[in-house]
Amino acid sequence: MYISKTGIVLATDLLKPLIVVFQVILYRFSQIILAEAKAYTSDMILFVVSRCCNINLLPLLFPVFLTACVGGSDIAGPEPFDPGTPQGKLELRTRTDNPSAKHIVDYFRVNLGGLKDSKFDHRNQNFIRFSSPPTVRLTSEVTSKERALLHHAIGLINRELPQHLHLMIGSDVPHIGNVNHDRGDSINTIPNEEIHVYFSDKQSVGYPVNANAGGFAKTRTKYYNSQEPRVKHTLEASFVWVNDSARMTEQQRLAILLHEMMHALGFMVHTNTKDHPSSLLGSDGPKGGFHKQWGSQIPEIDGAALRAVYRLPIVTTSDQFSVSSLGDWDTNSIELHSFVPTGNRQYLRFGVNHVNDVTVPWTSGVIPETDLVVKQLSSGLTTWRGELLGFTSSLRPVRGNTEIRINHVDSTVKATFTNLQVWDIGQTPGEIGTGESWHSGNMEFMLTSSGNFLRSKDGQGTLIGQFYGSSHGGVAGSVELDNLTASFGARR
Ligand SMILES: [Zn+2]
Repeated sequence: MYISKTGIVLATDLLKPLIVVFQVILYRFSQIILAEAKAYTSDMILFVVSRCCNINLLPLLFPVFLTACVGGSDIAGPEPFDPGTPQGKLELRTRTDNPSAKHIVDYFRVNLGGLKDSKFDHRNQNFIRFSSPPTVRLTSEVTSKERALLHHAIGLINRELPQHLHLMIGSDVPHIGNVNHDRGDSINTIPNEEIHVYFSDKQSVGYPVNANAGGFAKTRTKYYNSQEPRVKHTLEASFVWVNDSARMTEQQRLAILLHEMMHALGFMVHTNTKDHPSSLLGSDGPKGGFHKQWGSQIPEIDGAALRAVYRLPIVTTSDQFSVSSLGDWDTNSIELHSFVPTGNRQYLRFGVNHVNDVTVPWTSGVIPETDLVVKQLSSGLTTWRGELLGFTSSLRPVRGNTEIRINHVDSTVKATFTNLQVWDIGQTPGEIGTGESWHSGNMEFMLTSSGNFLRSKDGQGTLIGQFYGSSHGGVAGSVELDNLTASFGARR
């Protein structure tokens, strides 16, 4: 892997000699452009486009999707539960194993030019972020599954961030057709503070991507030419492409989308998976832990890096960056968690982890191999029951009942939370009925369901969830409100 001074990232060993020549030419060319710009105006703005192409995902995915991506499953009866199966145990605990400031510095170091195998001088490499959280917009003409995937991916990123830094999902942008992304046509038209996400096949990309590309990301950074170039710039806009022609499970496509979103948010270089084996920013696709586990939560190292981004100035140079750049950084956290059995000796775990001033809801379990198919029938309901656990904004633990219900007559999906109660800070919640009522004690969300993902309908707050267990025996997700951040888990 090489990074040129123009910030173009290429990741293939086969083309190394060619790339070196190409990069030298590009570097010279960029120097010429900079010189020209200086000659004509004192404050000309240059846009430099970087891209990262995720090239080697599919060969490794193929053996998997052949067994994992066929058909759907009907919602038949509940799975048999072993009577000896533990039914869940709520626990409030202190964790000491969250990523340390040193780990985070190391994670950023790659983006700050710490690559050891490169022949190029990276001392000028900076980490550049958006000046404020960008709005994510989907190009129109996407399927409902792709829309569900985007909402889920953004929801997972937002779980890691305080609410005032959440990414917003904006209105669709018109389908741009077969433009040549390689020439930068597409990225130059994206307004500032926006990330556009584009699902299409390889043919319509207009960019000579490797045949096995799962996706790529480009960013646009701004240089003020009146000042020292390469020192003063901001991340203005990004573009993410996800290949929708390759056969993958939605979980695999989610992994690719999240990987490209990390690039789009400023992490333009792949992490070192030797040091960060679980990171979704590894260059080796599914060999990285996130893909291997078909994870349903952003790995903790990447989540911590996302939280670290807004502790840094818009531009961070490598010589400015150290453990102290992160301010107070705690590896300890307080976590409230539990689990529910989902049949077949499988468990669904969920909880909230309050770390470095952010309450992060999380869920984990066995990802179903098939989509949940909601059939319209003349009668019937399918119901998952369980509980909700969360922290208020003042860190008081909240517990309550959860019910997710599909009505097969009108195909509506609803989440109902009842008996919501609150306990004192640091106190482990007791049985429902032993705490004091939280607000009205109830809340309800109408949901949109697609594939294995659930989300609250527009304007209904931020609930995202997904089904778990080999036959959709479980469902879990998160709810984020002004005064409550919670996760829920339920079984059929
Ligand atoms: Zn990548």
